[in-house]
Amino acid sequence: MSKLVRKNIASMEGYSWGEQPKNNTNLIKLNTNENPYPPSPLVIQALQTLNAEELRTYPDPLADELRAEVAKLNQITDKNIVITNGGDEGLRLSLTTFVDPGENVCFADPSYSLYPVLAAIQDASIKPIAYSEGWEIPEAFSKEINSHNAKMSYLVNPHAPSGNFYSLDTLDKIAQSAPGILLIDEAYADFIDPSLNYRSADLLKKHDNVLILRTFSKGYSLADLRLGYLMGSEALISPITSKTRDSYNIGSIQQKLGVAAISDQEYSRKIWNQIRENRTYLRNRLTALGLNSHPSQSNFILAEIDSQKVDAHSLYLSLKEEQIFVRYFQNELLKNKLRITVGTEEQNESVIKAIERITQ
Ligand SMILES: *Cc1c(COP(=O)(O)O)cnc(C)c1O
Repeated sequence: MSKLVRKNIASMEGYSWGEQPKNNTNLIKLNTNENPYPPSPLVIQALQTLNAEELRTYPDPLADELRAEVAKLNQITDKNIVITNGGDEGLRLSLTTFVDPGENVCFADPSYSLYPVLAAIQDASIKPIAYSEGWEIPEAFSKEINSHNAKMSYLVNPHAPSGNFYSLDTLDKIAQSAPGILLIDEAYADFIDPSLNYRSADLLKKHDNVLILRTFSKGYSLADLRLGYLMGSEALISPITSKTRDSYNIGSIQQKLGVAAISDQEYSRKIWNQIRENRTYLRNRLTALGLNSHPSQSNFILAEIDSQKVDAHSLYLSLKEEQIFVRYFQNELLKNKLRITVGTEEQNESVIKAIERITQ
């Protein structure tokens, strides 16, 4: 590596993303939690009415129309929202805006493996707080973020990769005692059962140190569009909106398709419900095959593999040979498990049949 590269960049590991196989036709892709259903018909319609002439000029820097839709959906004002180029840009901005090099960044580990990568880029000091099996937020979480005086702490709800759900009450208490910012990563919140009445935007009314991250990648079937947003107090959102993000971070095509997607809540609710049904079905069938899992409020299931028959890594490889992609993590708590994205009914049937064939 060139000596010109910053020291922290030279010594860090890059993010290792889930496999994105090139030949996309005959394979079953259940490894990166994409939505198996197409985006709303309104998105497809909007795509067909795009005008190439519009590409000549810069997009609306504030993405006002999209911000207004997001504000309406979450019953907050547009000053509480910044639209980002994928949720991942929101995570990066949470560090470049608020965390000085050397300051402490905490997250419950394992969770999203991008957090330590982004923190390393910022040359922040990384303080993972270990989960134990059961996937409740570590007992010591509040205590540790305080003893580290964490400038930024990350929690994923529902948790990835377990799918475990945390109540508003739990998050409220952590936010209350957090020494810095608590960012709640809600990449999978669209898949939470409506009966749980999870309305995290309420936390924003009580806490001015909370950021909430959302994305169009999972719930709205738009992973390729790169669209997400952060919600928070005006005091936290305004420096991002006016200073740290790229002024034209969202192209007009993204803005238009985002508006179309979010305005079709009826379609979204329909596919989220379908995914919840498929989730229950997939989990029950896995259990019947002897693969236990934690109850999931997300669009994936973390299945425990009975290593007496086959170990998780071999099963992952055998499935791959059959063109079925699931996710394997090299991590002490995860090495005997596979994370399987909830697919269509047909895809779920195929993965179950394949696991049955391989393990019996
Ligand atoms: C998918 C995901 C994100 C954001 O993904 P984008 O595609 O960048 O919007 C953030 N956090 C977690 C935990 C995720 O799984």
